[in-house]
Amino acid sequence: MRVLKSCLSKSVKTHLQNARRFIRTVPYYGKGRYCPVCSKSSSRFRPSGAITREDAQCVHCGALERHRLLYLFWHKKSDLFDGKPKKMLHVAPEQCFESMLKDKLASDYLTADLLNPHAMVKMDICDIQYPEKSFDVICCNHVLEHVPDDMLAMRELFRILKKNGWAILKIKGVGDT
Ligand SMILES: [Zn+2]
Repeated sequence: MRVLKSCLSKSVKTHLQNARRFIRTVPYYGKGRYCPVCSKSSSRFRPSGAITREDAQCVHCGALERHRLLYLFWHKKSDLFDGKPKKMLHVAPEQCFESMLKDKLASDYLTADLLNPHAMVKMDICDIQYPEKSFDVICCNHVLEHVPDDMLAMRELFRILKKNGWAILKIKGVGDT
């Protein structure tokens, strides 16, 4: 199978991935649930979690409850999408947000991760390579609990945040997946 996959062109692989994604959504066809992250509907969300939560994950973009809540915060309670230019740093970016944030913020959106090669830049949040007051918005979820010196990481994030900027720094809580 691996040999067969290596023979396929990138566009064929993309078409196959899209077809597989579409097939997985067929049992969920309907209008009972709406995901604000991807603006698509389904009959219900699919189960998710080590301790399974029914009706949890968007079948289209993979957004969980916490992602949909964060999107609603961004949309209704923050200035992130007010149309004014804002530089956003997204550490350890959640896949369900990436294309939407790239569309809305364009070149002002930067993803960073220490280990994930798909992030735009490699970054150690205890030694950030950007000057002070570089970003209007920082999002860094489920990262600080893995950093040995989380106080240093938070000082670094504060250092690169602009004076009137804001950050979402969520750590994994009980029941989070
Ligand atoms: Zn979605």
